[in-house]
Amino acid sequence: MKSFPTFAPNNVLTVRLGTGVSGWLRGCVGATGWLVVLLWLVSGCASVAPAPVVVKRVQMQMGTLVTITSVAPDRQIAQDAASAGFQEIHRLENLLSTWIGTSELSQVNSAAGKVPVTVNPDTMHILKASIEMARLTEGGFNILVGPAVEAWSVLDRQQVPSDAVLEAVRPLMDLRGLHLDDAQNTAYLAKVGMRVDVGGIGKGYAADMAAAAMQKAGAMAGVVALSGDIKTFGRFPGGNKFPFGIRHPRREDAVLAFIDLQDEAISTAGDYERYFERDGVRYHHILDPVTLQPARDCQSVTVIARDGATADGLDTGIFVMGRERGLALVEQLPGVGAVIVDRDGKVWVSSQLQGRVRMSDGVE
Ligand code: ADP
Ligand code: MG
Repeated sequence: MKSFPTFAPNNVLTVRLGTGVSGWLRGCVGATGWLVVLLWLVSGCASVAPAPVVVKRVQMQMGTLVTITSVAPDRQIAQDAASAGFQEIHRLENLLSTWIGTSELSQVNSAAGKVPVTVNPDTMHILKASIEMARLTEGGFNILVGPAVEAWSVLDRQQVPSDAVLEAVRPLMDLRGLHLDDAQNTAYLAKVGMRVDVGGIGKGYAADMAAAAMQKAGAMAGVVALSGDIKTFGRFPGGNKFPFGIRHPRREDAVLAFIDLQDEAISTAGDYERYFERDGVRYHHILDPVTLQPARDCQSVTVIARDGATADGLDTGIFVMGRERGLALVEQLPGVGAVIVDRDGKVWVSSQLQGRVRMSDGVE
């Protein structure tokens, strides 16, 4: 039996979700999953029976640490629901991972400039969502960024590519070259060398789908966290929402702010996980499709939305758009909020989240 204390930072277990050092989506690898997640210690006892059961399990999937918390009427259902969540992520990995040569997206990429490839509805869905995200973020989010990400290879090469190298890949990032045919269920990239990279949105989508699978399997509530791309549904048995901490982008292991979520997703993009420094300049893995350089205006962007694909896509897109345009966008989107740390370390909270976000001591 469980009891769930009311929120207080010293009552929570800090779980630093994984860095995802091995790769899932080419060039993405769960890097900015540096949302610090705070989940209650499930301990103690309550007097009323029977209480719902909370199960928490962790697996490596999609090149990153996946943590599933499952709340259900009994232990078997909680376990089955968690298993259903992991299975769903596994299924999506086989469709979307560009590290798996046989995945649908790998096939789309290798058929670039040659033939359209028949794709599953989930693959079609994420490609469409990515195009919509590009529209919303005025090109800040671009799933054809792969060749530029590779030119930078932020963790492997640790060198600044020449302008000539970067300009050579620019034509491969033209989104008009991604053709989706609903009638035929096909995806086609118009030029050889073009490549889809759903690294900026795929983990959020997988979190949504896993959460849906858990609910179908009987979970009353839960959290699916692929590194820092997280979807929640329902509440803890005691009625509390799920509490999270947002990592401070410049102080390792420090929490910038806290927020509680119910039926919402949260995702953070940051410049602090996968980067190298040259001559005092930080080069990281989120590229501005206009300059082909790492985006410069933010240190971190945390987005809260109803679904994980929106939160994940927007964090990357807004990181590129920058604080001013990004916040203006967020203010127009229903159910979406953001916490942005700008290049100077100043924290900006969108109006929707005012009063919900609690800053950590010592953070302004
Ligand atoms: P993660 O949590 O894995 O760091 P993010 O949501 O921060 O993911 O997205 C970063 C990843 O998105 C990069 O590793 C790269 O694969 C891809 N990416 C980089 N720049 C862009 C961009 N401008 N638009 C879309 N995807 C991008
Ligand atoms: Mg993202």
